Amino acid sequence: MTMINAYDRARAGQLDPQDRALIARRERALGPAYRLFYEEPLHIVRGKGVWLWDKAGRKYLDAYNNVVSLGHCHPRVVEAVSAQMSVLNSHTRYLHEDIVTYAERLLATMPHTLGHVMFTCTGSEANDLALRIARSYTGRQGVIITRLAYHGVTEAVSELSPSLGDFVPRSSRVRLIDAPDGLRIPAADQGVKLAADLALAIADMRADGVEPAAFLVDTVFSSDGLHPDPAGFLQPAVDLIRSEGGIFIADEVQPGFARTGDHFWGFQRHDLVPDMVTMGKPMGNGFPVSGVAMRPDLVQEFGAKARYFNTFGGNPVAAAAGLAVLDVIQDEGLQENASRVGAFLKEGLEEVARCHPAIAQVRGAGLFLAVECVLDRQTNAPDAATAGFVVNHLRRNGVLISASGPGANILKIRPPLVLQEVEAEIFLDAVKAAFAAASSA
Ligand code: PMP
Repeated sequence: MTMINAYDRARAGQLDPQDRALIARRERALGPAYRLFYEEPLHIVRGKGVWLWDKAGRKYLDAYNNVVSLGHCHPRVVEAVSAQMSVLNSHTRYLHEDIVTYAERLLATMPHTLGHVMFTCTGSEANDLALRIARSYTGRQGVIITRLAYHGVTEAVSELSPSLGDFVPRSSRVRLIDAPDGLRIPAADQGVKLAADLALAIADMRADGVEPAAFLVDTVFSSDGLHPDPAGFLQPAVDLIRSEGGIFIADEVQPGFARTGDHFWGFQRHDLVPDMVTMGKPMGNGFPVSGVAMRPDLVQEFGAKARYFNTFGGNPVAAAAGLAVLDVIQDEGLQENASRVGAFLKEGLEEVARCHPAIAQVRGAGLFLAVECVLDRQTNAPDAATAGFVVNHLRRNGVLISASGPGANILKIRPPLVLQEVEAEIFLDAVKAAFAAASSA
């Protein structure tokens, strides 16, 4: 599967000669597995807040960044990381107050049944560790995920990332089910269908002699095309996995840390208490911090038998970054901002949708929004060409987003949580211009 919104090297001839030379060096040094975004790759050298600058000094509105969720180079995170880096960086085999304080602060944002948190460096590693613990606790191997899920890249987790493409092998321990679909499945059926599909997958797995250990989902289904609604639809599937003896793991790498506005965590939208929560990306605002929170009983035996050490996971600099992120979300009211500016942006996008039949639906929560492009509203057939056109038109006009979903037709809009209304207006004007150009192209 080719990556959505990937640079195609056949276009090399149209690029700036210096960038073309850098791409050639990059391919020689890094090899063939990496991809670049956009028809004309972006060569950025600096960032601040929601803005990025390229090497020619041109400014771009970054509406696609869930890592630097507090904005690029947030001064309080930069300061916290540099201050700690200049005093001490070690690891979790020495006593250090900050990692304990950070763990306590994180757990305080979660339901009280999630009593422990363990630290890793990437979302992949967090899911990998969650799986080890889930399999050890249940004594089972099976995992059910959604059809276009992305949960990371390690050997164990890549088989849980079908969005990487068909080349990545999947063992008999894994079953895929259809993701929810906010456009094609009536809201009232969403929860029932998901649970029914999960039941079929469990039966199918059992026919192969595999017992279900876990149901693992990104609670906003980002790579499946963003499906946060209707709130609560996840509950029947979660009840089912538990009644079948498995556990529910909420992958909060995308929705976590206030992105959805109404809630700090994506699972809260569904009024759920997961057995485990994995998190990453925005946790350190660019510093690699990730982790797994869990019910204490899940890790009792694992903890006694398998000691855990992660050289960089949970080091004092990571803790300083993580603490600064929690402070800034609170002090700058970023959850409220995500709610308010997210609603403004959604309204603006709905207005654009009213003028363009190519847009079948605008959906999302807080500052995570999706615009689904279709060929016609009767069949809702995916329109990847319009989505691709809009993404690249925006990029040429100084606004960055991307696309996702099974039909590569869903615009994915995910600006840093510090986005203000004036910037949202700039964004909306650019989107209007892009759709106007698409309809006259
Ligand atoms: N889970 C989800 C839902 C993700 O979106 C990602 C990253 N895109 C990961 C896990 C993996 O995180 P990382 O790239 O930090 O390994």
